[in-house]
Amino acid sequence: MDVDQGVRKRIKALEVMVAEVVVETPDATTLVLFTGNDRLEYQPGHFLTIDPHQFDALARWTAFLEEGKNKKEPPRAYSIASARHENRLAITIKEERFIPGTTRYPPLLSPLLVRRTLPGTRMTITGFTGPYTLPPDIESKTDHLLHVCAGSGIVPNYSILKHALEQRMKLRHTLIYANKSWDDVIYRRQLDELRVRFPEKLEIIHCLSRESNPRRFPGHVRVGRVDEGVLRSVLADPKASHVFLCGPAVTKHERAEARARGVEPQPRFLDSALAALASIGVSRAQIHQENYG
Ligand SMILES: Cc1cc2nc3c(=O)[nH]c(=O)nc-3n(C[C@H](O)[C@H](O)[C@H](O)COP(=O)(O)OP(=O)(O)OC[C@H]3O[C@@H](n4cnc5c(N)ncnc54)[C@H](O)[C@@H]3O)c2cc1C
Repeated sequence: MDVDQGVRKRIKALEVMVAEVVVETPDATTLVLFTGNDRLEYQPGHFLTIDPHQFDALARWTAFLEEGKNKKEPPRAYSIASARHENRLAITIKEERFIPGTTRYPPLLSPLLVRRTLPGTRMTITGFTGPYTLPPDIESKTDHLLHVCAGSGIVPNYSILKHALEQRMKLRHTLIYANKSWDDVIYRRQLDELRVRFPEKLEIIHCLSRESNPRRFPGHVRVGRVDEGVLRSVLADPKASHVFLCGPAVTKHERAEARARGVEPQPRFLDSALAALASIGVSRAQIHQENYG
């Protein structure tokens, strides 16, 4: 079987039912999906897709946006939040915002998934795929993974972390997790529990860009953005670790709009983190990245 056939065989449509809805933060929700007896062949770091056309509640909205954009709305990708040993499939969605004067169109699918999806809702998902997974020989390449995530970019890394820690892989992990505020931190309690259970294996640093008083928070919380200083402080030897980097990047729409105005697009989290990693000597071959742009 060639690789393409293998991938096609693995990606299939599944009818699922929402078994549980967990409110993680004011704008992020986890949907636990009941998949019946289907065997779930996914790896930590994979994503699934959801086609907005299947939801009657969005039909007029989808048609309206398709007319305005002159383009069919594509399925949206969502990283898998669960790990295989958990025997359940979960995704976590952060609601995209419409900011008048800044965003061109209101977001289509994420508001429905975050705010208006109830237990018992049925939907079709397609999965599982994606290149953002642990290479099979990762333990022979490094003993340390640096996870650098922002916002919902934590989702695939959370799955990778749970998998690697529970499977007792040799890897140590440092997670640098960027959010605007302490209340925006997705999986705050769950990450803390992992840190307490695996103190030798997992270190976590939260970076909060819109908080101002560091004394309000525990010691592993810093006020400010992810910058060269934070990255350097956790990479004793920048050539020795592998980095799993996930979060928002400049979108193709932002790039096109900036080009039309003859300016450079404003860098987003992933672009700035890549530049900071390069400047402290981490090579591209050490970096695995998932771009939510
Ligand atoms: C591999 C991958 C994994 C992901 N995993 C997750 C995850 O685990 N959790 C999560 O919350 N998100 C995840 N995402 C993001 C997710 O797929 C969606 O992009 C997100 O939920 C927004 O979808 P939406 O339908 O709500 O917004 P959209 O309708 O897609 O709109 C998003 C933004 O794009 C702008 N826009 C849309 N179309 C145009 C256009 N034609 N011209 C100009 N601007 C336009 C809108 O104005 C808006 O600002 C992932 C993305 C990828 C690629």
